[in-house]
Amino acid sequence: MSREEETTISETMRASVLRGIEDIVVERRPVPQPGPYEVLIEVRAVGTCGSDTHYLEHGRIGEHVVEAPLVLGHEASGVVVARGARVTRLEPGQRVSLEPGVPCFTCSQCRAGRYNLCPGMRFFATPPVDGAFCEYVTLHEEFAHPVPETLSDEAAALCEPLSVGVWACRKARVGPASRVLVTGAGPIGLVAAQTARAFGAREVLVSDVKPHRLELAAELAATATLDVGRTPLGQSGFEPDVLLECSGFPPAINEAVRTVSRAGRVVLVGMGGDEIPLPLSHVQSREIELTGTFRYANTWPTAIDLAASGTVDLDRLVTHRFGLEEVERALTVSAREDTAVKAIVLPHE
Ligand SMILES: [Zn+2]
Ligand SMILES: [Zn+2]
Repeated sequence: MSREEETTISETMRASVLRGIEDIVVERRPVPQPGPYEVLIEVRAVGTCGSDTHYLEHGRIGEHVVEAPLVLGHEASGVVVARGARVTRLEPGQRVSLEPGVPCFTCSQCRAGRYNLCPGMRFFATPPVDGAFCEYVTLHEEFAHPVPETLSDEAAALCEPLSVGVWACRKARVGPASRVLVTGAGPIGLVAAQTARAFGAREVLVSDVKPHRLELAAELAATATLDVGRTPLGQSGFEPDVLLECSGFPPAINEAVRTVSRAGRVVLVGMGGDEIPLPLSHVQSREIELTGTFRYANTWPTAIDLAASGTVDLDRLVTHRFGLEEVERALTVSAREDTAVKAIVLPHE
């Protein structure tokens, strides 16, 4: 950093730190120093995610175990305030959406363009890598994506979950004439449904058990909605050629796969436990392609375009806002309040 930049940024910052199960405190930590290819970003908005809540409540997700104090939060936006000596693309003052995982760049998966599958990936808020519930973070400049002034800080942060929707629609080859079933109208289902429409899908049916979420789905993207608490999917008569499974609820996954048409595609987006029963004879006799998705690769330019053009509305997803001292409340609000969709943490408020 240049001397000039150093004088404007304090040496320490506030960070919300997970110390153990259900134990989050705000601590003072040194402001990180950007490496040669990194920028220092003042964090403006951070979305809360189910994975953050899972770490808070269980201290682990699968083999990722919180063994040392960890900063959560991986859906972030901010403004560049300083840069390393070799940074060329970004300057202080630039607003950015953070792509929160930096791969190794050299392994066979990285070289094939599938950097989301890089075994050496360093991803925000995944032990031992700290996340963004703090005032400043550093990030490789290639992963700090410039956003236009028309995009709000919150929408810029939510380009991360939108990227999950973009990746799912790409994997499912959603296009004009697609008939898409989105199971689950949480934040990911809502962005997946909007992205499917943006990709040209003719019909998008969104299913859930919460009426207010179905109303929001209808307002944002769905051509039809189904309250599966009242009408089972199998009785809907809808035969999609694409299933974007965003509920992560095993019985719903099984039932949804049974509705998929011949040569259809199933993309598992929601996390639904390690092992679930699937109707394999249906999958085999109809030649259904079934795949998982893991995060995303090369999605940010599309996500930013969709959000900035108003094709996808991310601001409508935000229902709650919290300061850095209230991260624990932010991560548990959806369990307390039925109307919660997306809670945002604003580190500087
Ligand atoms: Zn997330
Ligand atoms: Zn790699």
